[in-house]
Amino acid sequence: MPRACSILLFRITLPVVVLTIALSAQVATPSLTVLSREGRRTLEVVSVNNQDYVALDEVAAAFGAVVRDDRLAGGVTVTVGDRTMVLTSDQTVVSVAGRLVSLPSAPRRQGNRWLVPIDFLPRALAPMLNTRLDLRRAARLLVVGDLRVPRVVDPGHGGEEVGAQGTRGGVEKDVTLSIARRLRTLIESRLGLRVFLTRDDDRGMTLDERTAFANSHKADVFLSLHANAALRPAMKGAEVYYLSAERGESEGPRVMDLDTSSLPVLGGGTRSIDLILWDVAQTRYLEQSSGLAGFVEQALRIKVEMSPRAVQQAPFRVLVGANMPAVLVEMGYLSNPDQEAALVSAEYQTRMVEALLDGLVRYRDFVERTPVTAAGLPPRPPP
Ligand SMILES: [Zn+2]
Repeated sequence: MPRACSILLFRITLPVVVLTIALSAQVATPSLTVLSREGRRTLEVVSVNNQDYVALDEVAAAFGAVVRDDRLAGGVTVTVGDRTMVLTSDQTVVSVAGRLVSLPSAPRRQGNRWLVPIDFLPRALAPMLNTRLDLRRAARLLVVGDLRVPRVVDPGHGGEEVGAQGTRGGVEKDVTLSIARRLRTLIESRLGLRVFLTRDDDRGMTLDERTAFANSHKADVFLSLHANAALRPAMKGAEVYYLSAERGESEGPRVMDLDTSSLPVLGGGTRSIDLILWDVAQTRYLEQSSGLAGFVEQALRIKVEMSPRAVQQAPFRVLVGANMPAVLVEMGYLSNPDQEAALVSAEYQTRMVEALLDGLVRYRDFVERTPVTAAGLPPRPPP
């Protein structure tokens, strides 16, 4: 903290006047959050004469640029790939990829660092990276590239694996596909976001294929849709699950609607679920998935009946490999006659997809307005 110390010394020796000058010369201001598909990080911002600057070495670290002092030119070079620009402390115009761009003020050398005006990012760095950098000053956000990344919605089961079945012909694999398609249409039309379904027809997929699909599409949310069944017909209500972190969690209070292909023994002594590989992708996102589950549950509660245990953690294999926030929604019980009738009805399906959309919007808004944690991930929202 050499800078703060020197200001402090000034204060002691020349109290009032210099203090005012020091404050007007350089003020730490709220940092800038860099939001990209890879996650988020922060750039410290200092204000000098009412102009916001970021440190070039931090910018380089964030964007993979190489910065070198160019003593001969009295400046500094910034290189990305085969593109290099030269910055000097008396130039507000820089040449980037064959074009001249202007900056609101010249770069400043400060000790052995260089500060560049914050507008350097969208104006000069973006063309070097060949990426859009959207500077949202009021929100202190720098959005990298096209953040309209897809959601992946996973209609559970399919093909020969029908999932849960009601007594009046309601079949889980059909309910999940129908609701997933409706949700895709709604998200795409309301939010303009891309949505991919892991399956768009009646076909079987393994659980690993579903998460692999989401990972390869670089989805920022994975939503697996299911309908539940229980031995007691009275059981009803929707439930939202995210992955449990406890190693080797065993029985819940009832037989859950795990994908039956991975449950060879129901009601017997053991469940052989081959999923205890905890050093896998989803463990990194448990806090986020917990947050996502909370927002989805809040939104669902407004529109549909919830089970007494509305948010739960469970070792669902389909969530384990997801390299993004991931939740599994049991949208109701097919084993409950009333719920079965609802789940196959257009009216309930519409309410369900509106609620799921609302939950995703709540989650997105939370992510965009929440400061980053030390781990670079948004914190868990308050319960
Ligand atoms: Zn299921």
